[in-house]
Formats: sequence, C-alpha cells, structure tokens
Amino acid sequence: MRRIEGAALSAGRAPAAVTLVAVSKTHPLEAVRAAFEAGQAVFGENRVQEAAQKFPLAGARLHIIGGLQTNKAAQAVRLADSIDSLDRAALADAIDIAAQKAGRLPALLVQVNIGDEDQKSGVALAEADGFIRAMRARFGTHLAGLMCIPPEGVDPLPYFQRLAAMADVHGLDVRSMGMSGDFEAAIAAGATHVRVGSAIFGARLAS
Ligand SMILES: *Cc1c(COP(=O)(O)O)cnc(C)c1O
Repeated sequence: MRRIEGAALSAGRAPAAVTLVAVSKTHPLEAVRAAFEAGQAVFGENRVQEAAQKFPLAGARLHIIGGLQTNKAAQAVRLADSIDSLDRAALADAIDIAAQKAGRLPALLVQVNIGDEDQKSGVALAEADGFIRAMRARFGTHLAGLMCIPPEGVDPLPYFQRLAAMADVHGLDVRSMGMSGDFEAAIAAGATHVRVGSAIFGARLAS
C-alpha cells in the first residue's frame, strides 16, 4: 500500500522495514486469493477455524491475531506462521504442548494490554516485563516481539511508543501495531508490522 510507504519515508524509515499483515477476517477465500495474486504475501485472521478454511493458501503466510482460546492452540500451531496474541501462561502451556506434538513452533508475539483496559486482552502492564522474560526463557528466539491495540478515541502515538520502548528493553525486533485507522502513527513509532483489514478489503462482512 502506498500509504505505508509514505508513512515509512516520512518517518525516515525504509518502506521494506514495515510488513503489511492483510487482515482478511470475515472476507472470503476469493478476496484473499485476489490479494495474494496481486502480490500480498502475509495475512491475518483472528479466528482459527475461519483461518483453517482459507489457509494454507500455498505460499501465503498466516498470522493469528485475535484472542486465542487454549483449546484452539493446537490448530493455530499447525496452521500459523506467527501467533500474535500470546498473553497468558495457560496459552503458553497449550502452545508448548502442541508444538512438541506437531514438531513445529510458529513465531510468537506477546500481546500487551498497552492501555491497561479492563475489557482488552493482552498481558497487563504491571505483569508485562515478567511475562515477556518468562516467554523468552521458554520459547527462545521463537519469541519474536510484541503486539498491541491502543485504546480507542485517544491519540494512539504514546501507546505505540510505549510498546516500542518495551520491545527495545527486551531486545525484541517485531512490533506489531497499527490498524486501518492508526497505522501511520504506528509506523512513526517504529511498527515493523501493521495489521490492516478494512482499508484493504473494505468493511468487514457479517460473520
Ligand atoms: C480486525 C483486526 C485488525 C484490523 O482492523 P481494521 O481496522 O479493519 O484494519 C487488526 N488487528 C486485530 C487484532 C484485529 O482483530
């Protein structure tokens, strides 16, 4: 997308440093295939069962971006290239067991509840450092980085900056932040992955 390139350049960053995760949830396989044929390689889905119906699309890479139930962990481990919503010990246990069984472990991102909001998933801010260290110890370099969704209706930039600072402290490369409404600010704050759905595929379809 042009706007990603523009945002990267105006932040003094290389456009190639920002990966577009095209969020195809609720959109049919045909829409995914059309985007893939147009050159889009990386996709995001928030429901494992829905993802299983569209992927593997040979050659496409899949990120599971939504809150993940432990009973879906095994399927996510088999299917995904990255699980972006690791936020609790029970899920880490389920992923670990599934990975040993499947003989593969996707990249993992710790989702941080960066605005400490009651209703949001993600590890609480007060627990984030300890949880990230524990996940690094457990999963080694498979722990690739951090993900967040900032609070709605306020300037997201400070929240993105906070996530980037946390990733710096832990020496983690991947910072997945920014959606259709705020990816430019996220790129300015150092996002390596932006998860963009409606700006690519149009409004979400009823599911
Ligand atoms: C749906 C979703 C997105 C994409 O949202 P848009 O506003 O459609 O770009 C990004 N991240 C997560 C976790 C999502 O669930």
